[in-house]
Amino acid sequence: MHDKIRAGTRRQIPAVNTVLDSLDGHDLPRPVVLDVVRRELKRERKRPRISKPAAIVERIQQRLTDLKRSRLQTVINATGVIIHTNLGRAPLASEAVEALSRIAGSYANLEQDLATGSRGQRAGYVEHAMTVLCGSQAAMIVNNCAAALVLIARHFIGEKTEIIISRGEMVQIGGGFRIGEILEASGAVLREVGATNKTNVSDFARAITNRTALILKVHRSNFFMGGFVASPATRDLAALAHKRRIPFVHDLGSGATFDTRKQGLEEHEPTAHEAINEGADLVCFSGDKLFGGPQAGIIAGKKNYIEALKGEPLFRALRCDKLVLAGLQTTVDLHLSASDSTLPVPAFMRLTKDELRARAAAMLVRLRGLPLQISIGRGSGNVGGGSLAQSVIPSVTLDIVPEQCPVQEFAAKLRSSSPPVIAYVSGGAVKLDLRTIFPAQDDTVVDCIRSVSTQAQSA
Ligand SMILES: *Cc1c(COP(=O)(O)O)cnc(C)c1O
Repeated sequence: MHDKIRAGTRRQIPAVNTVLDSLDGHDLPRPVVLDVVRRELKRERKRPRISKPAAIVERIQQRLTDLKRSRLQTVINATGVIIHTNLGRAPLASEAVEALSRIAGSYANLEQDLATGSRGQRAGYVEHAMTVLCGSQAAMIVNNCAAALVLIARHFIGEKTEIIISRGEMVQIGGGFRIGEILEASGAVLREVGATNKTNVSDFARAITNRTALILKVHRSNFFMGGFVASPATRDLAALAHKRRIPFVHDLGSGATFDTRKQGLEEHEPTAHEAINEGADLVCFSGDKLFGGPQAGIIAGKKNYIEALKGEPLFRALRCDKLVLAGLQTTVDLHLSASDSTLPVPAFMRLTKDELRARAAAMLVRLRGLPLQISIGRGSGNVGGGSLAQSVIPSVTLDIVPEQCPVQEFAAKLRSSSPPVIAYVSGGAVKLDLRTIFPAQDDTVVDCIRSVSTQAQSA
């Protein structure tokens, strides 16, 4: 025993080149591989006892595999959550993808006026089309909805520092992003009014002072409150704000630009058009939620406000590039020309259970004979991405109970298949929701399940 340890301590750290030679083929750039090898050997040197060379190589191999897996790649969304922030939110319409790739590999008239040959307006068309879609006087585009809020707060905060907001609307979105904190970071002093469940117009009226810079309404996009609740109508808040000459901003978050009830949902998501009609001076919403475009923040509303926002030096740091603008431009055109049938988000919302069940049945046939119990189950996906928190969309799932390994392990193996398939575990089964799987991916999903279950068998 003692001798063995002594022998171990005498082991040499392998040379970088020796390790490089024994690594299996992978296509990461050589400097990246070299960096991983050097870091791992350095770590090895600090160990009280040096590992066997084979163990070192194996560890490095694993790090490279993990690193490679973390590269941005397409995955199959079998979660049933249509706008899944971790999975990149809205998939773009194919027309938008084509526009993106055309613009991406070429020069474009981004800031060139083709009529005069001089400097033109960036995003001119998109802004124009957005005003038509939102029924507003003007519109502008920034990096995301959070950036829109920052820009708005920075602009309106000056000698007057307070933003009045309902306690029931202090929303947190995703991992640690709180509307309140982002506003405070922009120099605003939040004046919270009302109670968590109830806020009235009179609460806002009482809170208005000569320090009030803004009244902000935040759409409760990712949660909903039921029971003894009340919040003032947009119209009433707008009337109050206008009477007291205070700007009124409505953060819509998910920003529907179509009637969600027409897509088979019970819940109605307020649209930008409605909020403007009801008197919001400015609205903002995300480009990559219900709108179905690339990541962006759209601000629409009164012309003088939009112009002032564009004049803010900060705007320069929040503006979008030609790729985002190309994707948005095509997406807004699709909404306007009512040819939104090619937009994946509303298309996924519209899918009926019968359609989904037919696809599930066809997949089931192709999955016979594997060491799995597999059946068609029920899913309760939702729109996600801070949209329509109340609307659970009844869906259809493939429910898999593997015979050879635990469900969590099977789900993990699906995630490391190629392409990765993101399923979820519920009620003792691995569930794959058909709603968010593109029909063209059904065969790939079947192949992935096959290969994972045969792996599980041989392991
Ligand atoms: C999602 C959301 C935001 C943030 O939007 P991003 O585009 O992700 O920055 C802001 N407000 C509300 C109400 C939201 O739902």
